[in-house]
Amino acid sequence: MHLSVIGTGIVGVCTAAWLQREGHRVTFVDPREPGEACSFGNAGSLSPSACLPVGMPGLWKQVPRWLRDPLGPLTVRWGYLPRAWPWLAQFLRHSSRGEVERIAGALRALLAPIFDCYAPLLQRAGAEHLVRRTGCLYVYSSRQAAARWAWGMNLRRSLGVQLRDVGEDELLALEPDLKGRFRFGLLAPENGSTPDPSALVKALHAQCLRDGAAQVREGVAGFEGAGGGAPAHRGGEVRRLRLHGGGVLDVDGVVVAAGAWSAPLARALGAHVPLQTQRGYHVTVHSSNLALRHTVMAVEDNLMVNPMAMGLRLAGSVEFAGLAAPPRYERADVLLTKGRQLFPHLDASRTSRWMGHRPCLPDSLPVIGRAPGAANAWLAFGHGHVGMCAAASTGREVAALVGGRAPQVDLHPFRPERFGLLGRFGAA
Ligand SMILES: Cc1cc2nc3c(=O)[nH]c(=O)nc-3n(C[C@H](O)[C@H](O)[C@H](O)COP(=O)(O)OP(=O)(O)OC[C@H]3O[C@@H](n4cnc5c(N)ncnc54)[C@H](O)[C@@H]3O)c2cc1C
Repeated sequence: MHLSVIGTGIVGVCTAAWLQREGHRVTFVDPREPGEACSFGNAGSLSPSACLPVGMPGLWKQVPRWLRDPLGPLTVRWGYLPRAWPWLAQFLRHSSRGEVERIAGALRALLAPIFDCYAPLLQRAGAEHLVRRTGCLYVYSSRQAAARWAWGMNLRRSLGVQLRDVGEDELLALEPDLKGRFRFGLLAPENGSTPDPSALVKALHAQCLRDGAAQVREGVAGFEGAGGGAPAHRGGEVRRLRLHGGGVLDVDGVVVAAGAWSAPLARALGAHVPLQTQRGYHVTVHSSNLALRHTVMAVEDNLMVNPMAMGLRLAGSVEFAGLAAPPRYERADVLLTKGRQLFPHLDASRTSRWMGHRPCLPDSLPVIGRAPGAANAWLAFGHGHVGMCAAASTGREVAALVGGRAPQVDLHPFRPERFGLLGRFGAA
């Protein structure tokens, strides 16, 4: 079967690689170079432990503060509030204890096999060096401070995540650079990370090309069915992609993996999903003199710190401002200020800043499944904060669906139709 994969971020590329393993022919369609959108500048954490949704119980109490502080960890630009509000209302609805437990169970099933799902792709691409299993340290100013997050951590444990208490002495033995601010940690030994997220995408994409994939450097504008009209009725089939440049591409099937830009494409295939962008930022400290071995999550500061090939990356922040507004790099500067507070000896003389669009659904779960409006179209987007983690397992599951086999993960929680009428409100 000749499948077009729309999007060459980590999700599209992993999905294509899994489709090729099943004997399908792939054509990528994307105007950008692979791994240059959200998959470029993320924190690179590959965490089977990252199964908690963003919306946790009690979060609603923070809303007034978010609205007041334009540089806080989570902010909504005033002008964007009317667009974001329907999404935020759904997001709060999914942050009850019962919902969080349901969502965490679903995400854990997708995240538990992430290294098994990356392994064959990395091996084929000769890219094993781009994934390392060095563990993640969640660090806190004290054991008492950690108690505030105990409910979520215990939920993780109940789902099979390995987490081990680490006292101050052991913490400093593991990571001498944590001296000063941190007195307690939790070690997630099974976690890993990539030293270069964009290089990982590019390596897997290059292997797909060597294995026969084609690349069309254009955006997809829409779909045509057999008679030339829209395929968006149940049982219809996509026969052609309409490209922004005016051309068309004949296909036997299509996978939409266009990250934060997927909503209009999904809509054309009968799926209404409230896909927002949670804009996130990073600062990469190229002059870093730290010798961290683990990924470090400074929980109280909501800051992910990862030693990478190009320097120390400090990433985080959630901003609701849509797909078009220019970056507000002061938000990245806040990350650097926090980094300097946490690591007073950090040499931050050379840095670079970046903003990316996380593709986010209000329940913190991606959309994975067949498009309701076309029998030969599949959707794989909306991975939010865990797209690097979940891309390979998503690819494996999409390949199973395309092949007509039962998936290994229960995909019911990820179905495109799950938002019902609410799916019509709140997209970016
Ligand atoms: C600050 C920050 C830190 C993060 N840290 C982590 C982390 O540590 N671990 C983790 O797992 N995740 C992390 N994430 C999230 C992760 O980066 C994303 O979930 C992931 O990159 C999304 O991948 P994607 O392939 O869906 O989208 P993208 O990488 O954004 O790719 C989408 C592609 O689709 C293309 N496209 C869009 N529209 C069209 C169209 N009409 N036609 C053709 N092509 C189109 C785009 O050009 C783009 O290349 C982080 C994100 C941010 C912002």
